[in-house]
Amino acid sequence: MEDCLFCNIAEKKVPSDIVFEDEKFVVFKDIHPKADVHLLIIPRKHIHSIDHVELEDKELMGELILTAQKVARQHKLAGYKLHFNVGREGGQVIDHIHLHLMAGNPHE
Ligand code: AMP
Ligand code: ZN
Repeated sequence: MEDCLFCNIAEKKVPSDIVFEDEKFVVFKDIHPKADVHLLIIPRKHIHSIDHVELEDKELMGELILTAQKVARQHKLAGYKLHFNVGREGGQVIDHIHLHLMAGNPHE
C-alpha cells in the first residue's frame, strides 16, 4: 500500500534498521525501543491487523512466528516477549500488522 509506512519500509522507500529479510518478511529495529532489544517483524503483504487476518493467511502467520524464532536465535536471546497490538483501543498505531519482539531490560 502506497501510503503505508511499513509497506514503504519493506520496499526500502523509507529508511530503517533492517536486521533480517527474506521474500515474505522484514524485521527491523523499533525507532523508539521499549527494551534493550525491540524488533518489529512484518510480512511484506499488507494486512491491517490481527483482526484482518483471513484463513488464506494462516500459513503466513505461522511463518511470521517462525521468523520471530529465527531472529531471536540469531540474536542469541535467552528469552523474549512477542506481542501484537490490535486496533486503536489495543494500542495499535501503525495499521500494518507487526509482531513486537522484545528482550532484555525495559526502557522508559
Ligand atoms: P504499535 O503501537 O503496535 O502500532 O507499534 C508501532 C511501533 O512502530 C512503535 O513501537 C513505534 O515506535 C514503531 N515505529 C514507528 N515508526 C517507525 C519507523 N519509522 N521505524 C521503526 N519503527 C517505527
Ligand atoms: Zn502496509
